[in-house]
Amino acid sequence: MNVLATGGAGYIGSHAVLRLLRDGHHVVVVDNLFRGHRAAIDAVAKAAGEGAKGRFGFVQGEISDSGLVRKVMRDNAVDTVMHFAALTYVGESVNQPLQYYRTNTAGALSLIESAEACGVQRFVFSSTAATYGEPPADKVPIQETLAPAPINPYGASKLMVERLLSDFNTAQKAAGKPFAYACLRYFNVAGCDRSGALGEHHEPETHLVPIILQCLLGLRPQAENTLSIFGDDYPTPDGTCVRDYVHVEDLVDAHVTVMNALKPGDGRIYNLGIGNGLSVKQIVQSVERVTGMKVKTKIGPRRAGDPATLYADPGKIAREIGWKAKITNVDEIVASAWAWFKANPKGYAK
Ligand code: UDP
Repeated sequence: MNVLATGGAGYIGSHAVLRLLRDGHHVVVVDNLFRGHRAAIDAVAKAAGEGAKGRFGFVQGEISDSGLVRKVMRDNAVDTVMHFAALTYVGESVNQPLQYYRTNTAGALSLIESAEACGVQRFVFSSTAATYGEPPADKVPIQETLAPAPINPYGASKLMVERLLSDFNTAQKAAGKPFAYACLRYFNVAGCDRSGALGEHHEPETHLVPIILQCLLGLRPQAENTLSIFGDDYPTPDGTCVRDYVHVEDLVDAHVTVMNALKPGDGRIYNLGIGNGLSVKQIVQSVERVTGMKVKTKIGPRRAGDPATLYADPGKIAREIGWKAKITNVDEIVASAWAWFKANPKGYAK
């Protein structure tokens, strides 16, 4: 297929692009490099090798620049959009909601309009478990039937795009035009490409696994490179928050599986997780097993908006299109991240 990957210079987008190229697809990336990395594009090109020459392009630009996006779509005969480009920090979204609605919601609207104008047939959208908000304990593991109730602008900005896609799909169907979409609700994505080609580089870094690894490498700005555990008085087995950590290669495998399964008229919503919850302390223990190093921790205050327990029921996507996470051992997830962080302590920065 001919895929436009927005945000292809980011963590998940770059892994998806490499996978698409390895599968023989044509891929063009549009990324404004606000938080993505030009070096990630170069790393993808290098890892994809000679065989991907002529099948991979990169354009620096905004998804809301419809003139540019439509030219890219037409020049590359794009039939599928994978839309990764977004702002993704919950805390930042609370402080700067309009920026989140502009980039995530209005940006996606513009992209969908361009997709319509250019006859794009498939749209795979990076959604989030943040659309569920803080589900009651008896609703975990979470099924897609749970009514979404986001508690921050980030989750709300993504949920609005789900609605846009649903309404647009209904209209396209009624007009007899071929279109299909999928919203993939990510749980906690972690790990790096196991060949070592690609990694994870966020600034600022807020995610648990990279923060712990940066502590071990002496790269955290805070004193003594100590992990602050955000609360140990939650109603969970060890008192720390429980999350569903899914390897980035499995996550992108789900995108490809969904893309290949979409039939005209489809509107699919799937959770992407492994279906198992691990606590913050269990992640720390995994890092200690994998690295053989001791992680310094302290108990800090709870972080606003963190539900105690959040993990997926990934049964729907397994039943409907046969996708299941393969890398279910957390040590393997952590080891893949550790390999990359050790080899690239500055991430993609020179
Ligand atoms: N967490 C923590 N200390 C940190 C960063 C994260 O205790 O420095 C916890 C956080 O409260 C949550 C889990 O680790 O329970 C995963 O957080 P992350 O930010 O990686 O992902 P989120 O669950 O917010 O999507």
